[in-house]
Amino acid sequence: MSLLTVSICLGATGRLTMLLNIKPQLAVCIVLSIDMWVVLFLFGGDFNVSKGCSNICCKFVGNFCEANNIAWLDSGDGGDSYTYHSDVNCHYSLIDYFLSSHELVMEENRTASILVDGDNTSDHLAIMWHINVARPTTKARSLPESRLKLDWNRGDIAAYRSVLSSHLSDITLPTDALNCSGSCCVDHFPQLESYYTSVIASLHSATKLTVPTVKAGFHKHWWTPELDELKQQCIDATELWKANGKPRSGEINSNRVRIKLRYKNAIKEAACSSDKAFNDTLYEHLCKKDTVGFWKSWRKRFCSNNLKPTSILNGKVGEHNVRKQFTDHFQAVFTPNNSTAENSYKEEVNRMLNLDTGEKLPVPFINLECVETCVSRLKCNKAAGCDGIMSEHIVYGGKDLLVHLCLVFSAFLRHCFVPADFCVGLIIPLLKNRHGDASQLNMYRGITLSSTLSKLFEYVMLELFGNSLQSDSLQYGFNKKLS
Ligand SMILES: [Zn+2]
Repeated sequence: MSLLTVSICLGATGRLTMLLNIKPQLAVCIVLSIDMWVVLFLFGGDFNVSKGCSNICCKFVGNFCEANNIAWLDSGDGGDSYTYHSDVNCHYSLIDYFLSSHELVMEENRTASILVDGDNTSDHLAIMWHINVARPTTKARSLPESRLKLDWNRGDIAAYRSVLSSHLSDITLPTDALNCSGSCCVDHFPQLESYYTSVIASLHSATKLTVPTVKAGFHKHWWTPELDELKQQCIDATELWKANGKPRSGEINSNRVRIKLRYKNAIKEAACSSDKAFNDTLYEHLCKKDTVGFWKSWRKRFCSNNLKPTSILNGKVGEHNVRKQFTDHFQAVFTPNNSTAENSYKEEVNRMLNLDTGEKLPVPFINLECVETCVSRLKCNKAAGCDGIMSEHIVYGGKDLLVHLCLVFSAFLRHCFVPADFCVGLIIPLLKNRHGDASQLNMYRGITLSSTLSKLFEYVMLELFGNSLQSDSLQYGFNKKLS
């Protein structure tokens, strides 16, 4: 049995529109019910009519319910309940309802409750109704971890640092491994792996306690702490008003209305000024004839959020098959098409490693200053690697974390060792052109998300040995003035 829910908004543009509007919605429902054979219906929302009144619209809804074996539920606990309220005109009416198939209505849920939430700026109050439906047989989709993002702007950074320090101080240092001079030693690999894993675990548990997570793309980009404060004032004023019996006049009520209006206007203003700032940015790019900057801003604003993953790729349909297409493609990219070439490179590297140049340079200890310099190069607001560690974990981590990183990186260097996490990357296929044909594999470019700490380790290597390293002359990407 399927449950079909329909959101109703019959608005205030005249009651006649209601008669015109409800019919197409009903038509859609009938088509669907033929398709699915058995369907339970749930309509909810603004019907723009009060149950039990004598006008024609009320009769129409009543007839609709009767003809389709649907119950018109009460909202609120009777008396002078209302869902629509115009505080300026002192107009209150009960016009939001649920209409439901009789099968869903039980003795204990005959009424929908009206929610008076302090942060609801709409002129309608929300209504809530509990129904008992059997669990869907297919596994419910919970939000994948990757869709959740740490919200560092709302995190308590000082608390994060202090909790992290306390977790880090609980780690037993693998002193043998840290004091080992390294050279060809493989005995300490497990200790180094475990030390590194403990540092990562400390970073995760510290954020769990101090930094909230949000759904990716959830926040309005123009939201400010001032709006948060106004929202809280609005909630407080509503709570006070509720505690005083929800008066429709008097100081407590006018205070609530005033604050709510201020909150509503502040939201509008913030959205407007964000639009204006965006227009100014576009205008500036145009004046400078900076088309790259112009389209970058444009796409960031209008394109990035609406992009859905393709459900068809190179003629293959379905999430699993599409993923397999990408996997095969990127695997092929990383497989050398000539095994002899790979072997000859391997021999060349081994030959150079075994070359006795006569001078043995001491392996440098990675000091705090070096790590601090490299941490300052990490860019915030970037996606995490597979281990879930973001730049912010490190940037906000404080000195204790940096000392641990000095120790662990120095030991890695002396042991010629990197932890397993450094060898894992997550390839994200990105559409080269957002308006191109998303079902063609050659329209995608893969970008690899690698561990942030591996990036930091690479920065450290560059800091120490950058002068001795050079890129192949055929490498154009990521090279200054070439890419
Ligand atoms: Zn060792």
